[in-house]
Amino acid sequence: MSARTTTPPVQQERWQRELAAAVRCSKVLLERLQLEPALLASEEPIAKPAFPVMVPESYLQRMQPGDPRDPLLLQVLPRADEQLRLPGFSVDAVGDLEAQQTAGLLQKYHGRVLLITTGACAIHCRYCFRQSFPYSGLPVTTEQWRKAIQAIQADSSISEVILSGGDPLVLTDGRLEKLVQELEQIPHLQRLRIHTRLPIVIPARVTTGLLQLLRRTRLQPFIVIHANHAAELAGDCPAAVQRLVGQGIPVLNQAVLLRGVNDTVESLEQLSLGLINLGVTPYYLHQLDRVHGTAHFEVPEVDGRQLIAALAARVPGYAVPRYVREIRGATGKTPVLP
Ligand SMILES: *Cc1c(COP(=O)(O)O)cnc(C)c1O
Ligand code: SF4
Repeated sequence: MSARTTTPPVQQERWQRELAAAVRCSKVLLERLQLEPALLASEEPIAKPAFPVMVPESYLQRMQPGDPRDPLLLQVLPRADEQLRLPGFSVDAVGDLEAQQTAGLLQKYHGRVLLITTGACAIHCRYCFRQSFPYSGLPVTTEQWRKAIQAIQADSSISEVILSGGDPLVLTDGRLEKLVQELEQIPHLQRLRIHTRLPIVIPARVTTGLLQLLRRTRLQPFIVIHANHAAELAGDCPAAVQRLVGQGIPVLNQAVLLRGVNDTVESLEQLSLGLINLGVTPYYLHQLDRVHGTAHFEVPEVDGRQLIAALAARVPGYAVPRYVREIRGATGKTPVLP
């Protein structure tokens, strides 16, 4: 009997097909939304931005055709303003490079480390502070993770590993499982946190396999999703989020305060209420990190403080996220206080 020489093609999961089929061009994006490029003349989309366009279909479906100010569109459409180089903005505004211990392992805060599992994302957010982070050389295979895992093993003060990126849920369930199995064997680890935008942007990523993995691990899982606007909590997103919540997994949300996207009290209120109605706790509202290319999204802190105060006057206390900013060298996120 001859040995099998070829392995049968692995059936791609739906989310992987959605990822592969994401829109990767401003022109196509505008066409799909029935927007004339001329409509955006004052904020001309750049043909070939350094950080390429990437928008999955499910997310695109939640945009309003014909609306150039759509809050989802604004998060993903490159603008000429990105090329501005303003004082106070830099490549590594939050000190991630200096906090890196071994490739892909960041420890800034006591007891928890951030493991950058991949540089890839399922969407490219124009405001992202990691868009200019040097991902090449970061660990991408289990073998390359070994060093990071050894460093975690060697430090018994670490009780929580945060999988970050990029987006860790871009990894297949199989790769994640291998990683989680290695982490589980470290006795001092108690919690596994996953920071991901996938349940929002490709909700089909919340697979049965993922839920099983999270249910089986001895580590207490936490999922931190990332929605900035209530209109993101539509289409196939709410059901996916509820599948996570239904497993008893704590699901938290972090948002970034973004000019033109969510910088009104109405918008923040709708987001918070939309989240808590799904069983998600609004965790953080981040002041924008000042990286190059994002200045047009910045909301002054003085306005942010007023927005949070106005929000607190309208929703339950548990629906008010902590308004924070990241300061280089600080021992945690720094509250932006009234
Ligand atoms: C934000 C962040 C964390 C998590 O902080 P929490 O306040 O626990 O949510 C951990 N490590 C790094 C490097 C971070 O940037
Ligand atoms: S890291 Fe998060 S915020 Fe940045 S581009 Fe990826 S998904 Fe968007």
